[in-house]
Amino acid sequence: MTAIFPIPALRDNYIWALHDDHHAAVVDPGDAAPVRDWLNANGLTLAAILCTHHHHDHVDGIRELAQVYNVPVYGPRQEYIADVTRAVGEGDFIELPFAGVRLSVLDIPGHTRGHIAYLGEDFVFCGDTLFACGCGRVFDGSLEQLHHSLRRLAALPDATRVFCTHEYTENNIRFALLCEPGNVALQARQISAQALRAEGRPTLPSTIALEKATNPFFRCDQPEIMRNVEKHLGHALSSRDEMRVFAALRAWRNTF
Ligand SMILES: [Zn+2]
Repeated sequence: MTAIFPIPALRDNYIWALHDDHHAAVVDPGDAAPVRDWLNANGLTLAAILCTHHHHDHVDGIRELAQVYNVPVYGPRQEYIADVTRAVGEGDFIELPFAGVRLSVLDIPGHTRGHIAYLGEDFVFCGDTLFACGCGRVFDGSLEQLHHSLRRLAALPDATRVFCTHEYTENNIRFALLCEPGNVALQARQISAQALRAEGRPTLPSTIALEKATNPFFRCDQPEIMRNVEKHLGHALSSRDEMRVFAALRAWRNTF
């Protein structure tokens, strides 16, 4: 299994480091210092930087790292990020020979209009699009794009490990339980997430299977969720099609 390590950064970010015994590639370095410290402490050399979207907490460490290590910097073709040297998009592949890894690039817009994911054999770096038990807000993308992108991620194999950028899991679970209090898998997830956080450990990675079982944004077809969305709104939805439920859920989460 490919080794992927979480480097904590900023307030609640993880900079994921895919590595072997000598080299590492990092995803979304919003800060250079913790990456340099981690590389130095482990005697590793940086081999590549991967970036999912343009938000500052994902890109602000790139310049300093790229100057020190002179490595390729991959980022989304549809967004302007000053230090990206290799713009990529849907259908492109990235080889990380040191780890024997080939990543494919998926366009998953919505949170931002050019957001991309990096998909490996059994893992995905999905930035701020899909979170453990939640999803990103819509900034410069659209709600329809976000919904479509989440459906694409939901269609990945169940065992796919999900590496998102923020430790938002406990709060997301609290919201999910308002939407679907009767979901036994969700109740169990709350207990395990609380235990991990009490030990100071990340709740990530998740898996696509776990998200399908517990993430309300993957479960807009569930009657219990529809009922609770309508209860929150104080009136019935004009239709219970998935996109409408999804939009209502996302709006509710914004006020939570
Ligand atoms: Zn973001």
